[in-house]
Amino acid sequence: MEEDPLAYHKSVLKDEMLARRLRQAGDLRRVSQSRKQLTKEFTNRPLPSCPETRQIARPVPEDFYRPCYLPPAHLKKILLKDLKFETHHRGSFLLLRVFCQPFRKSAVVAAIEDETRDVDRLVVYQTRESLRAFEVLPESSVVTIKEPFYHMEEDGRYALRVDHPSDMVVLDHFHKLYPEQWQNHEETQMTAMSWKLEGDRAVMGEEYLEAHRCYTSGLACVDPEAYEGMRNPMRDLCRSRSLADLHLSRYDASVLDAFKSISNRQDDRAKSEDAEAWFCRGRANYQLGHYANALHAYERMLMLAPTDLQCHQELDRTKKRLLEQREGAYDFAEMIEEVTKNGYFADRASFISKTEARQTQDRGRGLFATKDLRMGDLILCEKAFMTAHPNDRTPRSTVPVWLDSVQKVVDSPSQSKDLLGLYAGQPHTSPISAPIMDGVPVVDTFRVSRILDLNGFSYTVGRESHAYGTSAMMTRESPKSTGLWIRVANANHACLSNAVRSFVGDMIILRAARDIKNGEEITISYQKPAPLLADRQKVLFDSWRFQCNCLLCTSEASSVAKMHDLAEHVETSMAFVADRTLDTILAADSELIAMAEIVAEDLEEMYADNLMHRLPCLGMGDIWQWLCQTYCQNLNRSQLKRCAIKVLQSHGYWMTLQGSQLSIDLAHGIPTVAVVDALMYLAGVAEGEQQIELRREFEAWARRFYEIVNGNMTGFELKY
Ligand SMILES: [Zn+2]
Repeated sequence: MEEDPLAYHKSVLKDEMLARRLRQAGDLRRVSQSRKQLTKEFTNRPLPSCPETRQIARPVPEDFYRPCYLPPAHLKKILLKDLKFETHHRGSFLLLRVFCQPFRKSAVVAAIEDETRDVDRLVVYQTRESLRAFEVLPESSVVTIKEPFYHMEEDGRYALRVDHPSDMVVLDHFHKLYPEQWQNHEETQMTAMSWKLEGDRAVMGEEYLEAHRCYTSGLACVDPEAYEGMRNPMRDLCRSRSLADLHLSRYDASVLDAFKSISNRQDDRAKSEDAEAWFCRGRANYQLGHYANALHAYERMLMLAPTDLQCHQELDRTKKRLLEQREGAYDFAEMIEEVTKNGYFADRASFISKTEARQTQDRGRGLFATKDLRMGDLILCEKAFMTAHPNDRTPRSTVPVWLDSVQKVVDSPSQSKDLLGLYAGQPHTSPISAPIMDGVPVVDTFRVSRILDLNGFSYTVGRESHAYGTSAMMTRESPKSTGLWIRVANANHACLSNAVRSFVGDMIILRAARDIKNGEEITISYQKPAPLLADRQKVLFDSWRFQCNCLLCTSEASSVAKMHDLAEHVETSMAFVADRTLDTILAADSELIAMAEIVAEDLEEMYADNLMHRLPCLGMGDIWQWLCQTYCQNLNRSQLKRCAIKVLQSHGYWMTLQGSQLSIDLAHGIPTVAVVDALMYLAGVAEGEQQIELRREFEAWARRFYEIVNGNMTGFELKY
């Protein structure tokens, strides 16, 4: 790695800053910048380069603090002059106004003033990356900062720091806290109807946040008495806001507003307006994954507008989702085609009804089967809560997936329980629920960050229809995408797992690696298990802080004496295979083959215990596979057959042949691509020996394993 020439300098500076912070903590704030200086700083900024590259660092646990959980009425107003350095002002709030156009660095930075015209800077972290600074904090907006935190920023200057979205509320001008002196008097004169027109104008320009603000202001000045016998604009405003919310991904609010706008009157105009509202309600429910509600809404709409083509299309789409949700009826080939076309997103419902998440006896929560499952069965197919993909702007996908997850629950609070209920690690004690304060759910962003660390997967998006194109466990390319699947997140790890995961777009697929009984725990391997026990345990402990005690690990741990020898032999074998790629296989002479045979035999001796118990020998598969490839090239059928069987055994699979009837002991196997390859080698050998029945048997088994490893059958014909 290249060394940063300023690293030493930076670390000294950091230490100095920390010392200063500790020295000053608790001291009363001293004014450091005048209004004039701040105005200059904010107005003379160069335009941001486009597209902006941003590196947002994720917080370290030492910096975690909880959001404000107190209702506004329990907070006491303070002024900027009351702030203390490095202090969370618990039980207090600030009322501030943004007085210049804000900008974005790693956070949104704004110049703010309080009612005494005292000034400072406000730094808002953890906002969705796609939002521009003025959308987060419009100039002239009035905000309350709850339990403000006055903190030294990286540039050594103090500023108000906001990390949790609910700690900052942008006030509407009719909010009871909105100070008279900051009121825009033109706006206070506006009527509900003029707000509606203003909002419609914003919609035309696709400024949905502004439209939302206008409709909300309009609703605030609707006087129910004033419309005696006249058309009440309340329903119009609600219907329009419902649509704006749909564009802003605020689906809960959209559902609610659409409902409020429905009049159930029978005149033509009312009918067409109600139809519009039902449509909105259908769309929002669909986005929330509430397909039964969406279906109901579309059916209601069709009662009012029976010939609406778009609604018929939406209705059909919803019916497909319901079928997937209820029966796991997926067309995987079609799904792959769709994902290949539009990138990462599969418009599909989750099928999770054969599983449940509940407490285990000793490992926290786990995933359990609620039905008997056969080897190869689809256990579940789940849509991601959130995914993010590396790109030029953000080469690391872990930060966007975090920020977008936070924003998703802020936008649609009904989804917060799913996310916040996941395991967040021991030290995290903030509540699982997200109480609504000032209309916004209180979401602890740091908790979400921990949840993603512990529950997210990094994976490679499988989009191509070639073999193993959908299985991330098999590809090693970087950079990797990150995703969170709520149900699967409950699954515990076992190197010798009974389920295998794969991906199509943002869908995760779990298939049974062997038969699983109703009530049995479903386990997956969090990553491709390393050959050596010590390496496996180290990776698991470093990333997830636990020790694996699956059958393979406990069994290998009991033969500790041989551990060192085994490590040496596995290393030799890995080096052998790594140095001799496909080109050398083509040119492999008998001497090289003999060498490989010796390496393999030595390993077998080392693995005697595993072999005796029919357990996988993870360090042995590669060398046997190399030999398979070599004998296949040399058309040496009998040796190929012997080595293919060894490949199966190194994966824990032991086969029995009775005539042309093939059975495989599946109890302790780990299915991988190598297993499918080995079975296809055996099918080839059988074909060469004119044993057509047996050939069919081997291929049928290969197909079963292929489906488990790859998630679906796409690509099999192409590869084999
Ligand atoms: Zn294990």
